[in-house]
Parts: sequence; structure tokens; C-alpha cells
Amino acid sequence: MFKINKHEWVKVKRSKIDKKGVFARKDVPKGTYMIEYVGRKITNKEADEISEQEIKDGDVYLFELNKKYTLDGNIKGNDAKYINHSCEPNAESLNEDGHIWIEAVKDIKKGEEITYDYCLTTDDYKDHPCRCGAKSCKKYITIPKKK
Ligand SMILES: [Zn+2]
Repeated sequence: MFKINKHEWVKVKRSKIDKKGVFARKDVPKGTYMIEYVGRKITNKEADEISEQEIKDGDVYLFELNKKYTLDGNIKGNDAKYINHSCEPNAESLNEDGHIWIEAVKDIKKGEEITYDYCLTTDDYKDHPCRCGAKSCKKYITIPKKK
């Protein structure tokens, strides 16, 4: 069973960046753990097989937990999966004892969209244009793999 968050801080609604996004329900102070990224635990080997396809589709729901396991967040009840990428994010993901939390890295105003940097790498980065609208937008969600 997955622990489903009572979303005290955030809610899912329509976004300009993608179909859906996650938004602040009220003013969120910097440092707040806003929502847990929940999913099913799979081995990193299983994750490798899924990730190539997900990167192609442009929606990646995988978080590496440790050397052995990855969290697959593509499940019902994981609202954190709707958080969009931004090149100037106001949140970041952190791994605390095997739990992935989305933490506010600045003060966020009520109604603002929650974003973090996906930090994805792929050779086909040009297939994934970024629409975050930030001044420093890198134009693509993913960055080329380092050879
Ligand atoms: Zn961008």
C-alpha cells in the first residue's frame, strides 16, 4: 500500500506548460516538503528498460533511490508526477531515507506552479522542447548525454 498524501500544500490543475501541473494551494515557505513522490519500487535493471521508452515519450516518472532500486512513479495516486520541468525551478527533489520529497527551494506564492529541473540526459534532446517560459530557459527539457 502506498501512503497517499493529504495535499496540504499543493493541488493538481491545468497548466500552460503541459496538460496538467501542480500548484501551490497557499503560500509555501522555502524549505517546506510539499509532496512526497510515491510509486512502486523496482530494480534499476527494470528501470533501465522503462526509461528509454519514457524519455522517448517525454514523460519520465523514475527516481533512482540507491544503487539497487528505483521508484517508478507512474501510478495512480502519485500527484507529484504532474509536476512540470522548469529551467528556473522553485523546487527540487530530495531523497530522504528512500522517500522522495519535493522541497520548496524558495518562497512560493499561492497559485504559483511548482516546478523542478528534471536533469534528464538523452541523445534525442531536440525532441523535447521546453515551454517553461523562464528567462534562462535552456530551450530543451533534456540535455545531451556526455560522451
Ligand atoms: Zn525551460
